[in-house]
Amino acid sequence: MIKQNNVIIIGAGLCGSLLALRLGQRGYKVTVYEKRPDLRKVDISSGRSINLAFSDRGIKAMQLVGIDKKVEPLCIPMKGRMLHDEKGNTILAPYSGRDNEYINSISRGDLNALLLNEAEALPNVTIYFNHKCTNVDFENTTAHFYQYETKTNIVEKADVIFGADGAGSILRKSYYLGKKFLFSFSQNYLTHGYKELSIPPTENGEFKTYKNALHIWGRNSFMLIALPNLDGSFTVTLFLSYNEGEYNFNNLTTKERVLDFFKKYFKDALDLMPNLVDNFFTNPTSPLGTIKCSPWHFKSNTLLLGDAAHAIVPFYGQGMNASFEDVVEFDKFLDDGKDWESIFKAFEKSRKIDTDAIADLAIDNFHEMKGHVNNAIFREKRKLEMA
Ligand code: FAD
Repeated sequence: MIKQNNVIIIGAGLCGSLLALRLGQRGYKVTVYEKRPDLRKVDISSGRSINLAFSDRGIKAMQLVGIDKKVEPLCIPMKGRMLHDEKGNTILAPYSGRDNEYINSISRGDLNALLLNEAEALPNVTIYFNHKCTNVDFENTTAHFYQYETKTNIVEKADVIFGADGAGSILRKSYYLGKKFLFSFSQNYLTHGYKELSIPPTENGEFKTYKNALHIWGRNSFMLIALPNLDGSFTVTLFLSYNEGEYNFNNLTTKERVLDFFKKYFKDALDLMPNLVDNFFTNPTSPLGTIKCSPWHFKSNTLLLGDAAHAIVPFYGQGMNASFEDVVEFDKFLDDGKDWESIFKAFEKSRKIDTDAIADLAIDNFHEMKGHVNNAIFREKRKLEMA
């Protein structure tokens, strides 16, 4: 293993906490700085996707750090896509013909908390919350933080700094603004944004609709999806244009219009969402974008991972899974690398082609999912008519 071992990770999200755990297991001295409060103590889930599709890629990462069995109870298997048409007809389109092939729905908060617990249990890993990174001096391998509680600025130095600070990465911004090397960067937004809503459980805590599926109400130019949660609820996400079409986020401004929209296009879902209007006006509308950049590293000093390096739109359900896979792939290079720079270079060379590919596939799948329900039901109907 290479000698320099004092490591800073910016961001204790899904990727940062897994990276901290893995580097901690390998014996590095790891210090993690997270801008938000500790999610195990404060509820900070609103505004981000509350649950996620967790696939084989993600499970392999859990196996690497030996916590796959602890993750299992957090998972709800989704065996297929439950497609809903405008009349309330449904078809379950299985992900595979085999019963043991499915993806899981998992709570972001529960998974993140488990990773934080596991990382913090190692004596060589320390996690500081309420520390916002404000700048990274990548030439001198120092990171600047603002400490919310004491209202002070601190500067920390390390042998190497990892930016796992998500789509709005400060490390990436420092590369870009620093103009010290040829850094390529693109950020492309969809015309659609998203808003999270909820289907609560029944009074007995049961699921109001079929539990083991990813529900999709595809309406060609917009769609609604729902993933199950362990408490019997579903997290529902509306993907809709900001300003195009008869109904869009900019013109859904009154209770009446929201109800009209849902009555017209998502009647069966509306019947399951007593708090729709409250949720709609309380929860934020957020943009969806793809970020690509290169290089991910600066010399042997710094490296971007996860969404900080390659944020993608969520329509393949692979952003977190790909971020976890970054850690798995990066880990392989740690065995052979002589120095950080050669490890960083080799990692990006082998990895970027895959993350660029999933970014493009995720955009394609947006169009597939929006249209899929109508096409699938149409195909099924024709099959029945011809039989
Ligand atoms: P993040 O989860 O964004 O974590 C970054 C962390 O860094 C955060 O804790 C943040 O507070 C912290 N941070 C940020 N800036 C600073 C700073 N300046 N200083 C210190 N800390 C900082 N992926 C899937 O695999 N399956 C899905 O089903 C899925 N669904 C999604 C649905 C939606 C609506 C969205 C938006 C995304 C979805 N994703 C999904 C993608 C997934 O959320 C991301 O790919 C994943 O969160 C990336 O993890 P990360 O740790 O790289 O970044």
